[in-house]
Amino acid sequence: MSGRSHARACPERTCIGCRQRSARDGLLRVVVIGGRCVPDLRGTLPGRGAYLHPTPTCLEQAVRRRAFPRAFRAQVTPDADGLRVALDQAAP
Ligand SMILES: [Zn+2]
Repeated sequence: MSGRSHARACPERTCIGCRQRSARDGLLRVVVIGGRCVPDLRGTLPGRGAYLHPTPTCLEQAVRRRAFPRAFRAQVTPDADGLRVALDQAAP
């Protein structure tokens, strides 16, 4: 098993909240700008990104587990309120 035979048509990312893998299309990308985690709603912001299911449960888990500083390897403050608003917008 080489582990490299995965199809590339559907890229997967790990949700930093529940740690489950999902298609990137179903996840909200979060980036750090000026030390704050902000939602990248259009997927166009530069820099290192973390991925999160657009659900309040995953956001809460990520905040509680300090997954944001770990994901970005930096002292960052999750903009929980801003992210929650983004989740509402991203939710189907
Ligand atoms: Zn999740």
